[in-house]
Amino acid sequence: MRLWSLVALLPLLLLLAAPPVAGQPRPPFAIGGHTVVPGTRADLDLAVPAGRSDGATRVPVTVFHGARPGPVLALTAGVHGFEFVPILAAQRLLARIDPATLSGTVLLVRIAHVEAFEQRVPYVNPFDRKNLNRVFPGQADGTQAERIAWAITTEVIRRSDLHVELHGGDGAEWMEAFAGPYGGPLAEAQYAQSRAMALAFGIRNVIKYEMKTQAQVDNGRSLNRQAVADGKPTVLVEIGQNGQRDEASIATLTSGLENLLKTLKMAPGTPAPPRADTRWFGDSAEASATTTGIFTPVATTGRAVKKGDLIGTVTNYAGKEIERIVSPVDGYIMYGLAGPPVRAGEAVVTIGIPAATPR
Ligand SMILES: [Zn+2]
Repeated sequence: MRLWSLVALLPLLLLLAAPPVAGQPRPPFAIGGHTVVPGTRADLDLAVPAGRSDGATRVPVTVFHGARPGPVLALTAGVHGFEFVPILAAQRLLARIDPATLSGTVLLVRIAHVEAFEQRVPYVNPFDRKNLNRVFPGQADGTQAERIAWAITTEVIRRSDLHVELHGGDGAEWMEAFAGPYGGPLAEAQYAQSRAMALAFGIRNVIKYEMKTQAQVDNGRSLNRQAVADGKPTVLVEIGQNGQRDEASIATLTSGLENLLKTLKMAPGTPAPPRADTRWFGDSAEASATTTGIFTPVATTGRAVKKGDLIGTVTNYAGKEIERIVSPVDGYIMYGLAGPPVRAGEAVVTIGIPAATPR
């Protein structure tokens, strides 16, 4: 750890070491060289300096530092810059959080990956072609995606107590919304909190991500698994599809985020209870293409499938069918590739395996 980040962390370390005494003023929140006083909001940029092979960028963050003490909640949108529903819900949330009545602190990463957003690039960084969501924790002197990751790891995740990562179907992905709390042997101590946070979104499909091995946490580490690695209760929320600005999904996500703040007792008001018809999944499987060509899905909506059911076909560029992809399991298809391009080895659907009992 570098000296400057130790210095920047000092107020938080002191805060954690010494619980606030009644009557003592609540300390300001320090982040990225900025200081935010209690009861106020600050819209700021985390600086990402230029690297050896690509330029400088920034991560726009809003800090709502509540007037009252409470947890630090990190909400991150736009790691994939073409997933517009989370980015637009984050914009809407700006007007819905009042730091004067907030208990705790919200770190809202409004657009984690500005360069991908502005250049309308799905999946990857436009300069290094790396998937930002596979390079955490990142590195201070790496390529641009790695430097962005490093800024978010050090300035946001490691300064927070709780994390919700917001994604959706990317440019060529259809999706039925789901919430994914992290648990399993390596995150079980955090699971009760993660589970409560996931259910606050009022999304019917809930999949428990079981972290059973360190390799699952480490290999191609995503932002949410960075939070798991740092011991935070963590939830992945996926909503919206095909790079669309779908109003119903934006409204669902925004109200889910507001209900999350009430559930965590960070915002005043009675939270809506978890929905009674939650569909629990305990694991997931994929069906993948083994050929490259033009993929035509049977359907682009969430649905139950049986093992052997046709998922879609691949034709070559001469119009000849070269593959019929079938489901490897019984389950419920939650999202998939809309196509038309598909490459050999790519997953074309992700299938939730229903859990026998609520998790
Ligand atoms: Zn994504």
